[in-house]
Amino acid sequence: MADPGATLLERLVGVVGGSHVLTAPADLEPYLVDWRGRYRGAARAVVQPASTEEVSDVMRACADAGAPVVPQGGNTGLCGGAIPDNAGAEIVVSLRRMNRVRALDADNATITVEAGVPLAVVQESAAAAGLHFPLSLASEGSCTIGGNLSTNAGGTAVLRYGNTRDLTLGLEAVLADGSVFSALRGLRKDNTGYDLKQLFIGAEGTLGVVTAAVMKLFPAPQAEATALVAVASPEKAIALLARLKSALSDRLVGFELMSAFSLALSRKHHPGSPDLMAGHSWYVLVHAEDSARDTSLSAMVEGALASAVDDGVAADATLAQSVEQRKRLWALRENISEAQRREGPNIKHDISLPVSAIPVFMLECEAALLAAFPGARLVVFGHLGDGNLHYNLSAPEGVDASRFMDHGEHANRIVHDLVARHRGSFSAEHGIGQLKRDDLVRYKSPVEVALMRAVKSAIDPRGLMNPGKVL
Ligand code: ZN
Repeated sequence: MADPGATLLERLVGVVGGSHVLTAPADLEPYLVDWRGRYRGAARAVVQPASTEEVSDVMRACADAGAPVVPQGGNTGLCGGAIPDNAGAEIVVSLRRMNRVRALDADNATITVEAGVPLAVVQESAAAAGLHFPLSLASEGSCTIGGNLSTNAGGTAVLRYGNTRDLTLGLEAVLADGSVFSALRGLRKDNTGYDLKQLFIGAEGTLGVVTAAVMKLFPAPQAEATALVAVASPEKAIALLARLKSALSDRLVGFELMSAFSLALSRKHHPGSPDLMAGHSWYVLVHAEDSARDTSLSAMVEGALASAVDDGVAADATLAQSVEQRKRLWALRENISEAQRREGPNIKHDISLPVSAIPVFMLECEAALLAAFPGARLVVFGHLGDGNLHYNLSAPEGVDASRFMDHGEHANRIVHDLVARHRGSFSAEHGIGQLKRDDLVRYKSPVEVALMRAVKSAIDPRGLMNPGKVL
């Protein structure tokens, strides 16, 4: 029994041990700043529980003391959702010590993992069993599956496999009062009322602390093919997407759009990048996989691209001929984010639209942005197959990039208003965090916001779970 006279920190030490309750400024530092350095907070302590029971005891102690809790995984988020506020009263609960793979059921094609398992380890564990966990994103070496769940992460294989929500069969989470929501079931059919686990996915820690999950596994790919395709316009890219879907069926895994300018930035900041098919306005990186042996996937992709070129849908195409070439083509796409960072700050948007609305949206949005910010440069790339664009705006040539960031609000309004008009989303895969709270209230319908508030107060009535995030 907890000593009723003990302070919160004493109780936390009693639960996880003194070495896992951090209070010294130098120890706290890595938990208080996000990796891009955009958000900085303060905390009373960082607690590192190693089991669901410890998380439960930690939450009960915090609830008794009325202390708000900020759950944190790999701290690789893009919207400040895992960073405490500045008041210094919040307890950061780091899940990184909860890093066990609890079970892998090959016949059921599922893996049960704790929240702190790095995404790359989930992938490796599946591969070691001859299976495949398809969630893949740039930060996979350091992000954790609990963070992926809490932000409903997307990445580069959503077109084929869906986002984190679609990959989840079961979930365990600890609520603010310490009670354990236990739904760690590996079922593909389960129609027993409300699907409560889905509430915790994408909730960014505002409803509870995700502690474990049952994730879907798939047959391992036996063949892969990657191609770089030049197209004249976003319309042509969408026509190419439809062709490849019918030619390749669900072998089509990735369909990534890159504007000529975003590709040029990638090459500029990564010398030695392949420099092929110059002079086009738009490019698509196509990735296909096949889990069957002895198929001619490359020939299939090559044939589909050749007919697209013959019919004027694509302007040119190059299929990687080796694993090395495949990696080099993928690097063109993956290096864009880092290239933008080196080029200087820009105004970022993570939007999604119905694929069919994208060409019109792009024309309207470019015109509106250039009218407001003459000479500004658009850095447009992203997961066109999912309707998700990273639609970013860089300062005009010669204008100080940091000062251009002052126009962020204005640019966001232009982009997000147009996204709303085309029934899109102002946050496709990065979440809300602290960054997009105002947009949530502005762009979701009043009924949606009211329902979200009702869910929040039903599950976390005292408002102790990650306050100030999402809502
Ligand atoms: Zn992305």
